[in-house]
Amino acid sequence: MIVQINKSLKTLNTFGIDQQAERLIWAQSKNEVLDYLSHHGAPALVLGGGSNMLLTKDVQGDVLKIDIQGREVIFENDEVVHLRLGAGENWHEIVLWSLSQGFGGMENLSLIPGNCGTAPVQNIGAYGVELKDILLSVEGVQLEPAQTFELDAEGCQFGYRDSIFKNLWKGKAIITHITVVLTKVNHKLHMEYGAIKSELDAANIDAPTPRDISDAVIKIRQSKLPDPAILGNSGSFFKNPIVSEETAKSLLEKYEDMPTYSVKGGMKLAAGWLIEKAGWKGFRRGDAGVHEKQALVLVNYGNATGDDVLTLAKDIIADVAKKYDVQLQAEVNLI
Ligand SMILES: Cc1cc2nc3c(=O)[nH]c(=O)nc-3n(C[C@H](O)[C@H](O)[C@H](O)COP(=O)(O)OP(=O)(O)OC[C@H]3O[C@@H](n4cnc5c(N)ncnc54)[C@H](O)[C@@H]3O)c2cc1C
Repeated sequence: MIVQINKSLKTLNTFGIDQQAERLIWAQSKNEVLDYLSHHGAPALVLGGGSNMLLTKDVQGDVLKIDIQGREVIFENDEVVHLRLGAGENWHEIVLWSLSQGFGGMENLSLIPGNCGTAPVQNIGAYGVELKDILLSVEGVQLEPAQTFELDAEGCQFGYRDSIFKNLWKGKAIITHITVVLTKVNHKLHMEYGAIKSELDAANIDAPTPRDISDAVIKIRQSKLPDPAILGNSGSFFKNPIVSEETAKSLLEKYEDMPTYSVKGGMKLAAGWLIEKAGWKGFRRGDAGVHEKQALVLVNYGNATGDDVLTLAKDIIADVAKKYDVQLQAEVNLI
């Protein structure tokens, strides 16, 4: 294990927030995670790619950076492969690599920042596909007592941007590997969501491959979302709220053009639409702001502190609640 003292986390979180770790510890295998937990108990913070968190203070204690590499085909037949991935592998690199091997299943999840081991935490999703659609199992180490575990997809209790790792097991388990099932033939393509179909039409593709879908998704995402390497951000800052059918209906009476999606338990609203309609799109206060193209994304223009971004988020939440009586919640983990 590599241990660094009083280390800035600025380059290790995509918001580019300059907070320090008292100790930054790099774990490169399941055994190192087990060893760390048996001796020290829970670290102050578990860190993957740092693309779904807002650091609002220095971390007192240990930041355990999960840096476990490895990609391995552990089962294969004529139709599918089972791919076991180290938690520290970069998600998008694995998507591109799996496509280069001719495997389908990850294409709609192209260009999502972060690491493989964190993908189950919020059941990453985009363009009509969620991790749960391809996940077979999650391995890791549980705390108290420190022992290894393996969960199948059902055990992960996946929901919309949700899993057991955000609820019952929050702070109680560290993921070290995931296994996904990908197709070698008869790929199940999802083109019905977003602008994928029109991107494919524009490129005159009528029999798309998983790679074509990935290219379309990458193009759409690059045109809409800021690149964290250029402008600090954590993607969608807020979850899309789910409200009762009654609430959605009364909002639709006032705002006919408001997008709604029917989901289990009610109607999903587009948080970005509500924030934009409330007038926040492109708003900037100091170095914290709301992205000019996508109101769901809060950005750091350079030297914003975590508190600057958090204050802005709270102001947006209060304003949306006042105007629409809808309570927004952060999707990003507040540290
Ligand atoms: C530009 C941009 C676009 C994005 N688009 C999407 C999108 O389309 N869909 C989507 O779902 N998300 C999206 N995100 C959010 C983010 O990419 C995902 O949530 C990603 O899975 C986070 O991975 P990470 O490794 O960076 O997590 P981190 O930010 O490092 O960690 C997130 C949380 O998980 C915990 N954690 C980290 N590693 C582990 C581990 N090994 N075991 C247990 N807990 C752990 C952390 O303590 C923290 O609470 C986007 C982010 C950005 C910046």
